[in-house]
Amino acid sequence: MHVAIVGCGQLARMMALAGWPMGHRFTFLADQGEGIDCVKGLGEIVYYTPEIELEGLALFQALGNPDVVTVEREHVNVPLLNTLKPYCSVYPDPDAIKYCQHRGREKTFLNSLGIQTAPFHLANNADELNAGVKALGFPVFVKTCEEGYDGYGQWVLKNDEDLNDLVAKADNLPEVVIEGRVDFDREVSLIAARDASGECVFYPLTENLHRNGILWSSLAPADAPAELHAKAKDIADKVLNALEYVGVIAIEMFQAGDELLVNELAPRVHNSGHWTQGAGICSQFENHLRAICGLGLGHTINSQHAGMVNLLGIEAPKEIISESNVQHHVYNKSLRPGRKVGHLNLVSDDRHTLEVKLKRIREALYKD
Ligand code: AMP
Repeated sequence: MHVAIVGCGQLARMMALAGWPMGHRFTFLADQGEGIDCVKGLGEIVYYTPEIELEGLALFQALGNPDVVTVEREHVNVPLLNTLKPYCSVYPDPDAIKYCQHRGREKTFLNSLGIQTAPFHLANNADELNAGVKALGFPVFVKTCEEGYDGYGQWVLKNDEDLNDLVAKADNLPEVVIEGRVDFDREVSLIAARDASGECVFYPLTENLHRNGILWSSLAPADAPAELHAKAKDIADKVLNALEYVGVIAIEMFQAGDELLVNELAPRVHNSGHWTQGAGICSQFENHLRAICGLGLGHTINSQHAGMVNLLGIEAPKEIISESNVQHHVYNKSLRPGRKVGHLNLVSDDRHTLEVKLKRIREALYKD
């Protein structure tokens, strides 16, 4: 099938790399000025122009009449993608993506399904910011409702001084969500997929480590009681079905005791699911394509323990990538501090052995 992907980053790259063996071909839609190195050589690249901004037929034709259009990021033009629907499938549905574009809308939607989130208030101005912080009490996380990611567009307020500093900037602040701090034990995520017939599959719950607000390392299945795994699956099931979702979704959560609070939904393949590439199962990238192309969903339950370490602004040295158990992925990106440029996947029959290896690799890669 001909698949068009909105976006040209590493997620689009890995979708295409998973799709080529299945006989799919790809077109990538780039914003003006967007870097395209990740997808070079993997399909045609089409740039947004004022003409194709106008309506669906122009965009459909510019993309070369694809069978299906999908996304590698949530910040996409929802009304424009909706105008494609008379011409081809658009998965996930742009209206489902819309929920994930705005932190306030997303949390309100989750709470309406009975799914817990951090307590929150929305604020558009200094008065609302003051009132929201007062209602929740310090410390709070203040996050822009739109466009923030990986810790960007985010402030942690610990006291009145921090609040006054932010209030001084409040005239220029976009709409924000103020969240009470969740005293979590760890961060976990669940990757799941649903197809148009309503069939759902769930990868095991994954535990994640972050560094400076950016995903650093993952390990799956998370070491957790069966009840917690079941709770995560139930959350994913509710979200997928409420949105009549088609494709892969990632649900990022905080675990506090035996509670799970959803922090964020990502309507796409996700960094915390990269371990699925090396775990002897259908990867998240393949399952996304299978879901959006109507090809039946693949196996998601790994028999071994699987882990991932991100390469953030660094290359992995030869000694590490030469290890027999290390699978090395690079995204064809130039190095910049903190930039996601690749990752390493590892598996082991023994969880403790894998934990030790992941720690050793993180320490070897990141000396600070
Ligand atoms: P986010 O951009 O929402 O993914 O947040 C980035 C990181 O900040 C998360 O991975 C958490 O480590 C931390 N964080 C965000 N929101 C909260 C919260 N309400 N309570 C505690 N930690 C948080």
